[in-house]
Amino acid sequence: MEMRIEMLLQEMTLEEKIGMIHGAQLFQTAGVERLGIPPLVMSDGTMGVRQEFEPDSWKALGNADDHVTYLPCASALAATWNRKIAYEIGSVLGEEARGRGKDVILSPGINIKRSPLCGRNFEYFSEDPYLTGELAAPYIRGIQNWDVAACVKHFAANNQETNRFEVNAEIDERTLREIYLPAFRAAVQAGGVYTVMSAYNRINGEYGYQNEFLLNQILRKEWGFDGVIISDWGGVHDTAAAAASQLDIEMSVTNDFDEYHMAEPLKKKIEDGEISEALIDEKVRRILRLMERLHMLDLEEEIETVGEAGQRTAKIRRQTKENGRKAGIYNTPLHRQKALETARESFVLLKNVNGRLPLDKTRLKRILVIGENGVCLHADGGGSAEVKALYEISPLMGLKMHLGGNVKVDYVRGYCSAPSGAEVLEENFREAVALAAQSERFDAVIYVGGLNHDLDVENQDRPDMKLPYGQDELLREILMVRPDTIVVLTGGSPVEMGAWVEKAEALLWGWYAGMEGGNALAEILLGEENPSGKLPETFYKILEDCPGHALGEFPGGDSVAYREGRYVGYRYSDKFSVDPQFCFGHGLSYTEFAYRNICFEPETKRIACNIKNTGDRAGKEVIQLYMSGPQTKEALVQELVGFEKIFLKPGEERTVEFDVSGTLDRAIQYAVGSSSRDIRLRKMLI
Ligand code: BGC
Repeated sequence: MEMRIEMLLQEMTLEEKIGMIHGAQLFQTAGVERLGIPPLVMSDGTMGVRQEFEPDSWKALGNADDHVTYLPCASALAATWNRKIAYEIGSVLGEEARGRGKDVILSPGINIKRSPLCGRNFEYFSEDPYLTGELAAPYIRGIQNWDVAACVKHFAANNQETNRFEVNAEIDERTLREIYLPAFRAAVQAGGVYTVMSAYNRINGEYGYQNEFLLNQILRKEWGFDGVIISDWGGVHDTAAAAASQLDIEMSVTNDFDEYHMAEPLKKKIEDGEISEALIDEKVRRILRLMERLHMLDLEEEIETVGEAGQRTAKIRRQTKENGRKAGIYNTPLHRQKALETARESFVLLKNVNGRLPLDKTRLKRILVIGENGVCLHADGGGSAEVKALYEISPLMGLKMHLGGNVKVDYVRGYCSAPSGAEVLEENFREAVALAAQSERFDAVIYVGGLNHDLDVENQDRPDMKLPYGQDELLREILMVRPDTIVVLTGGSPVEMGAWVEKAEALLWGWYAGMEGGNALAEILLGEENPSGKLPETFYKILEDCPGHALGEFPGGDSVAYREGRYVGYRYSDKFSVDPQFCFGHGLSYTEFAYRNICFEPETKRIACNIKNTGDRAGKEVIQLYMSGPQTKEALVQELVGFEKIFLKPGEERTVEFDVSGTLDRAIQYAVGSSSRDIRLRKMLI
């Protein structure tokens, strides 16, 4: 491979090389046709392959053939805590990307959720680096199995949208290494990711695209990444810095492609002798290597001819157009099935007092659904993550599809997100409360609200952590007149719930759950599926319980100081005894699990314990392993170092084992639990 790359490189003119290292269209570079080098074709996004745009403008082509499978967002995927599902969903995305003729899919987004307000949190996995890395790695392998490169983004510390193009994230090295970098490391080393997108922001003074410490010291040297680094769109600011940095491809948002920093301006500097062409050769080498990995280049084969007696007679080399690249496919029934399976496991049952859920379908004659998210379709929002979905089942439709014609389903909007909706708002509000009060009329009332992509969106952070559109007031009144109302909320990050949560008996959290989200929700509400999602992030009671906000360090100004250091999410709540509304790792089931017999096996360096389903329904449990070191002043109370998701039938018991060899030198105790605050078993090592 390397020989072939050198041969191609020698044949190339400077102009041809330059063509390969910057966008020649908004989502593609130039190829070198005479040498059989195709352009590199990229696409967003994180929830499905994005629609086609004009090559030189952000106007969608409006094609009838670019609808795709709309997948649950990264937060939903993280809530499954299921590595197999992560692989399968990655594989669907990769197969669809290839099916749409793409070479690079700009996913996954794995930035740490530092604040619940970050507008792109729905595109990210978790507040926890271990959980993020454990799911991102199989997801990447799933994508790349289809001869498509994943592009892990945004490297690094792109944890807010406010001032995202410029903001300088001030982070000490320990915090970087313990919180903000490990998931990227897992993407590189365990996921084998082929490409990385540098962040817009500055990290300790230097922009992501040219950051010597991150790109060179850490990514290339420490982690051994020999793949391609792509800038975020419009994230490059200087020709010489870009040339000298580890960045390989400059992408941007404007159509003056020849004027990009790594286009004509770079060519001129090389011709003038200001910049060495050798720097560019390195970049082109890496791009060609990527193309080889993706089987994009015509194949040169070495063939052995074999004589009659089976002896080798000769070795010949031949060029062939047939490079064996996988073709991919999009919109298959299997893809939709995977979207459904993921959605099912992503719902998190936060509260279920008095066994309020599931509903018994046979006892329902008439139900009331309240809330705009009952009918809202989310696929085409969020910014670059938007998806032109083949279809999207709303919660209301899912419920009706599952209940059938014998159950009457009434619907009222209750709140309204449209800015012009302020008058209707009052009317909707009163109608919803009045209907909910008619308890003899409805066997169940289901509220479906939360956020939408007006708030969970790229390029802006949420202004606060409140439920928007007057929903706190609405929920409070509905729960007053109908205390057994089932509350379903959608969003990419938590909302404050203090105004009504004590009153709610059943509370189910859904993320942007993809095209089959409405079906999955109905199955869970009606007990056809048992919820098994767990929170991949802390649901704080109020915004000020989040460390960055407690310190007044979000979103910052020109700079944002990560003064909370390693105390992000539960690491902070645990250390400073701040009770969350719902803790990291929390999620209920319709069945119960008992934990017993924890032991440490020194020879195999394993922690083992038994889990039994003691209820009367089959279900899945996520067994979480937390480690604690010596409790010094600075030490974390605990950190997640393992998890397993298992399926158990009623009465069934299984042993779960965790390899702890990687953390043994730091540990004095391991704890096994059903959430970070529902620890069932502990094992002291000394
Ligand atoms: C976003 C990236 C995205 C790119 C291309 C940028 O604004 O930050 O996540 O992949 O645009 O659309």
